[in-house]
Amino acid sequence: MALLNDLLSSLSAGNIEIVDLTNKLSATTPGLTLPEPYASPHPFELEELAAYDDRGPVWKQHNIHVGEHTGTHLDVPIHWITGRDGSDVSELPLGRLIGPAVVLDFSAEASANSDFLLETSHVKAWEEKHGEIPDNAWLLLRTGWDSYAQDQDKFLNADETGPHTPGISAECAKWLAEETKISGVGVETLGIDAGQAHGMDPEMPMHYYLLGNDKYGITSLQNLAKLPSTGAVIVVSPLPIVGGTGSPARVYALVDRN
Ligand code: MN
Repeated sequence: MALLNDLLSSLSAGNIEIVDLTNKLSATTPGLTLPEPYASPHPFELEELAAYDDRGPVWKQHNIHVGEHTGTHLDVPIHWITGRDGSDVSELPLGRLIGPAVVLDFSAEASANSDFLLETSHVKAWEEKHGEIPDNAWLLLRTGWDSYAQDQDKFLNADETGPHTPGISAECAKWLAEETKISGVGVETLGIDAGQAHGMDPEMPMHYYLLGNDKYGITSLQNLAKLPSTGAVIVVSPLPIVGGTGSPARVYALVDRN
């Protein structure tokens, strides 16, 4: 009782700030286009059913059409073949969707090299400075890519060799998945894997290792620059879609401003 009252009074006094980490969902939200013969996710679409008119004199409502993996969204184990016997998005323990947020800022490196890859050595050097990553944490990789999220071309940064966006090396993905007790990894880019990850071994190593080790991923995060390196609490709220391999999610963080 007292703990929750403290939380509420800290929120109303502004001593705890709620930082929205979510990109807004609209028809212009950048989406994934897969090459033939693979099916691409449905872009976000609002279909108007009524708008205070003869279809509904005093109400307005829409159908929404959207792929599970659109905008700021969660990837869960059954999304990848390595996690096929794992959880769907309706089955996740809520305790793993609220946890410590640690922010690793590699925006300078990603700005200099759009194919920048986080290595285990980077994470270990970060831990030397900021302390060990706590159990149940969400590791949030800041690259500055959130500033491109309203522009599909800049966000994907593709040329004839495919997309060029920063991410995590295969070696680091394996280490994070197998040797740490994090709940998941969050990134600012379109997917949890780097733009060039189709050519890595294994292909798409973050999907392969993370989802194959009962860990989760979040993409298209915004506003990581507003979070401290350690000390914030993240809240990840996907829809509980039965059988779902992911879901657009509202993601936010509680930050102590005292
Ligand atoms: Mn996804």
